[in-house]
Amino acid sequence: MRQNSGLAHCMYSGKHWDYCSDYRKMVINIREYDWESDSNIELHLRLFKLIPNKLVPARESKEWKAYKKAGEAFNKATDEVDAKLKEFCVIAKMPYDKNWLKACDEILEVYDKVWNTYEKALHSYNKAWQIYLSLYEEKLDALHYEMFPNCPWNGETIFSEVNK
Ligand SMILES: [Zn+2]
Repeated sequence: MRQNSGLAHCMYSGKHWDYCSDYRKMVINIREYDWESDSNIELHLRLFKLIPNKLVPARESKEWKAYKKAGEAFNKATDEVDAKLKEFCVIAKMPYDKNWLKACDEILEVYDKVWNTYEKALHSYNKAWQIYLSLYEEKLDALHYEMFPNCPWNGETIFSEVNK
């Protein structure tokens, strides 16, 4: 089976590196839910690539393993926030009565919890990345130069060339 998770280049248009848990799902998300123009979506999909696992710098190190674990936890927390937000949207459209209020209260309470988990997971994820990068940035840069010689990433976005 083809690799579907790992270190991802430009998973989001505003972030250079991420840990991707489900590449195929992200491709569908970019195609279907991105509010970018068609040409930007095309560029985004061209840049969004998984780094083959065997090429990830220091993939046997504890820093990479910690980052991978934090990335998986963060992606799971993100999915849970999305799922609860969708549930909330369904409830919000129901008729306004005492059942509606109760249902809203309940879902908001759950949403609060998943949001807290998400924030903690995000913090750990960013921290784990900084630790990994502080040790292996040079190796990653060299790999990046080889794999994406024309990468338009400018530190903030991949659309710097397009939107000039
Ligand atoms: Zn790049």
